[in-house]
Amino acid sequence: MSLLRSCPACGRSNRVPAGHLADVGRCGACHAQLRPLAEPLDATEAQFDAIVGAARVPVLVDFWAPWCGPCRTAAPEVEKAAKALAGRAIVLKVNTESQPALAQRFGVRSIPNFTVFRDGQPVWQQPGVLGHGQLEAAVLRAV
Ligand code: ZN
Repeated sequence: MSLLRSCPACGRSNRVPAGHLADVGRCGACHAQLRPLAEPLDATEAQFDAIVGAARVPVLVDFWAPWCGPCRTAAPEVEKAAKALAGRAIVLKVNTESQPALAQRFGVRSIPNFTVFRDGQPVWQQPGVLGHGQLEAAVLRAV
């Protein structure tokens, strides 16, 4: 599976394979550099499986829901962590309202819930609001 990322230089959509989201690429249209993913990516269950299964870097997953106040508090921290970890990790957001099966699969009972995956397996999980420094530390321990 590949994901669409728009080129910052020309705006064209590029297909990036799920296993290469943390890599430097090149725009197929204008050949500008496509930098590693530096922001949280909203993932469906199919995208989650493709990315977590193919990633060669740790994947931090933010399980959240639109009605959850603490999730909104945590969101800017997740964005900061994604920026700081660009090229070293992938950050996904899973909406537990639209992807309930994923939350169930990983035993997510309260949100926000942060889980780090390495080689397709969860290696760390913690519920509650966390600062970006705590999120980054949890990811870097999994590298
Ligand atoms: Zn381009």
